[in-house]
Amino acid sequence: MSSNSEKVWTVLSMLEWATDYFEEKRVHNPRLSIEWLLSHVLDINRLDLYLKFDRPLSSSELDRLRPLVKRRGMHEPLQHLTGSTDFLDCTIHVSKDVLIPRPETEQLVELILNQHSDSESLNLLDIGSGSGCIPIAIKKSRPSWSCTGVDISPEALKISSKNAEFNDVNVNFLKADINDLNDPEGISTQNWDIIVSNPPYITHPEKSEMDPQVVNFEPELALFHNDPLTLYRKICEFAAHSDAKLFLECNDKFADEIKDLAGSFYHRSELLKDYDGNDRFVIAQNPHN
Ligand code: GLN
Repeated sequence: MSSNSEKVWTVLSMLEWATDYFEEKRVHNPRLSIEWLLSHVLDINRLDLYLKFDRPLSSSELDRLRPLVKRRGMHEPLQHLTGSTDFLDCTIHVSKDVLIPRPETEQLVELILNQHSDSESLNLLDIGSGSGCIPIAIKKSRPSWSCTGVDISPEALKISSKNAEFNDVNVNFLKADINDLNDPEGISTQNWDIIVSNPPYITHPEKSEMDPQVVNFEPELALFHNDPLTLYRKICEFAAHSDAKLFLECNDKFADEIKDLAGSFYHRSELLKDYDGNDRFVIAQNPHN
């Protein structure tokens, strides 16, 4: 993108130039990438760009766009460049300190919402809450519920609290380690009706097969664990002790083992697939749940 003052950039010429640039840099979704960035800088809907092909870009708009295009050229996720992403009907701010919410996790939330209505006034805990997307989206759809998220990362807790405020919902966020949930925050003494978790579930040997966009920009702490099954065991133990219904997101490579693990603590444990057809969720419950 030349800064030559003679050249007048328009929406269309920018879309075309940056698409080629991203293609050259082997960025995922080249056209969509520049559409996102341009609609972010111009503060218009992405599809409205198509009604404004001839609109010239001012020098201040170009100044804001240039560093974003450069960072995208280095494969930084679009959600980091625009600062947020949609998660169901919420806007969730993200940074390098939290996982970018995934469509699978929207599905995990939908499983809970489909099984329990607002009239139940439930007490829900999300273990490893990251950006806070799970309890925030649930609280937004189930205002009578009490929703809490715990995470080990102070940076993540700051972001999740900001996200709750931004989405205008009241969710408690507390610091806790999955390995030590019996801490002084009172988490272990509450009566939880539902416990949900999407813990770090990728093993280190899987790292080499992963997209560099994820590995280079998303937090190691939220993605990887040496032995994810030990974390799931801790979560199952805690949830079964609280007598809560349990909803887990899992690595499809060992989802079966997690189903069996949960089944050793609960009366019933079932495995469900995500929209891509991969084994992804385990729901465990006792007869009264
Ligand atoms: N689903 C995420 C991914 O594939 C991983 C989420 C997690 O580790 N909890 O990148």
